[in-house]
Amino acid sequence: MSTIVEKIQSLPPDLPFYSFEFFPPKTDSGVQNLTARLKRMAELNPLFVNVTWGAGGSTSSKSLDIATLCHKQLGLTTCLHLTCTNMDKNIIDQALAKAKQNGIRNLLALRGDPPRGDEYQIPSESQPFHYAVDLVKYIRQQYGDYFCIGVAAYPEGYADGTNPELQDINIDLPYLIEKTAAGADFIMTQLFFDTDSFIKFEKLLRQHESGIFKTIPIIPGLLPINTFQSFIRTAKLSHAHIPVDVMTKLETVQSTDDEQVKQVGVQILTDMIDRIYQETSHRVRGFHFYTLNLERATASILEKSIILKKSQIVRRALPETTPSIEAVLSGKVEDIKLNAKSETAEASWDDFPNGRWGDPRSPAYGEIDGYGITLHVPPAKALELWGHPEKPEDISKLFVDYIQGKLPVLPWSEQDDLNPETRFIVDDLIRLNNDGFWTVASQPAVNSVRSDDPIFGWGPRNGYVFQKSLVEFFISTDKWLKLKQKLSNVDEISYYAGNAKGDFFSNMTASDMNAVTWGAFPNREVVQPTIIEEQSFKAWSEEAFAIWQEWQQLYAKNSNTGQFLQKIHDSYFLVSLVHHDYVNTTALWEFLHI
Ligand code: FAD
Repeated sequence: MSTIVEKIQSLPPDLPFYSFEFFPPKTDSGVQNLTARLKRMAELNPLFVNVTWGAGGSTSSKSLDIATLCHKQLGLTTCLHLTCTNMDKNIIDQALAKAKQNGIRNLLALRGDPPRGDEYQIPSESQPFHYAVDLVKYIRQQYGDYFCIGVAAYPEGYADGTNPELQDINIDLPYLIEKTAAGADFIMTQLFFDTDSFIKFEKLLRQHESGIFKTIPIIPGLLPINTFQSFIRTAKLSHAHIPVDVMTKLETVQSTDDEQVKQVGVQILTDMIDRIYQETSHRVRGFHFYTLNLERATASILEKSIILKKSQIVRRALPETTPSIEAVLSGKVEDIKLNAKSETAEASWDDFPNGRWGDPRSPAYGEIDGYGITLHVPPAKALELWGHPEKPEDISKLFVDYIQGKLPVLPWSEQDDLNPETRFIVDDLIRLNNDGFWTVASQPAVNSVRSDDPIFGWGPRNGYVFQKSLVEFFISTDKWLKLKQKLSNVDEISYYAGNAKGDFFSNMTASDMNAVTWGAFPNREVVQPTIIEEQSFKAWSEEAFAIWQEWQQLYAKNSNTGQFLQKIHDSYFLVSLVHHDYVNTTALWEFLHI
């Protein structure tokens, strides 16, 4: 099968194209359900698809399996992402060998996240890679021209959150030149919403005196907008500037109707594509969608964008007859209907909130932070905020401060993440945290409020929403054993509990599902976007305990704080409780306080 660059070159000049990115879902059912979604999305005719790679190789076998499925079973030109830093070289060698064995010919060569400090660095004998350029060189040295290699670029400058002043394209430029010269065949960018910045960036590269970027495909990364919250969150994680006009358009609709956010988002993306294609005089003609494994927003953009929709007509007609792009754009060639999302029950997985509290069966159920966990603040800021805890009371204080709004962020929560609904249970949460129940998630019970309610509302207009009270916390083993005893006397509370060693307790079966948020809206089935069940609890539990270790790595291993955080990681339980009596809004909190 041809490589990405060969495929681009085989297209008629100026013909636009697009590609999709997928990540390996976190749960097994998510992976299974992704297969069906990939099949449907393959029918949208992307020029190629990308499969991401979890930080440190954490998803290596899933990434390879999904890439192989795309390539072999779906016949898609497939690009596997590969990171190189702080990961054993054997993992890279195996991934390269397996990719070749399975016929995958495209790679996106990346650095990945660097380790926090020297003592957490994998020894250099087994880890010779520091930057993406090292990986590009290695692949070329080992595999010659077999692989078509892409590298990442940052139209607004590379940023890791440590120092905003270093987010500057001129700082990255020499390194982008270096990795391109080492053998890159195409450039794919970080997502952005600031079209001006991208257009300026592209021009800067094309006009560079070295001439190295003159003809290399530069493919902008675009994020379809699914919900207002996920848009803000992803922009923040990616350090993408949100232009005022984009923000204004979305803010105008975000408080009233999630459905409208999607529609406005489609228009924003369509406008970006049009501008980029026109203002770069078609030098940029490929558009990469960070789909987040979601189908509808991407399909809607393809349907709405005249440029991308029309490009289909030509591509579907290839190779027998090739109408000119001018003929297509002028409408002289017959239109086609894109195979946009068919409405099935699966759609409801992805309609509203997602991520940690989404439906674990959804193919879009993945790592909360994309490629792996993060502390949401740079190390220096984290130390300033959280200091050097050495005893449980120090941790209780941090959690209480966070709930009282005195601390902006905790390792498990993001800046300003505390939902306004928390104010209804704030006293209960403070009491729990002071008692050593360190809460990482909670919601009060709600027995029917309108879907446009400013605090609890979500979904389309004229609906009603409901929720059960839930709370999730870390506690010591002693406390867990007492709580377990108490839980054995009630039948209105469902629980999951687990620790880092893999001990697991529950009063439910593996197939039980708890819908803890649901909504009834005009002309559609009841939507239940938030489901808690065993698979998702276990997946999250792994992540939640890994965050203790991520935090621990800010300190020397043998320091008091380093050892204390390790002890908590090793000995505490994560517990999740759902109270089913959503009419009695205080029931869960009374149970916990007696
Ligand atoms: P590099 O090109 O190595 O650059 C990283 C930083 O180091 C930049 O500041 C650069 O200016 C600087 N630098 C580069 N070379 C040198 C040098 N020789 N000396 C000094 N400084 C240097 N992450 C994942 O874990 N999995 C994924 O699947 C994944 N996919 C991605 C896809 C895209 C399109 C993008 C844009 C990013 C993706 N990432 C992924 C994130 C990526 O791994 C991180 O952004 C990472 O921190 C940087 O990767 P890079 O390849 O751009 O690094």
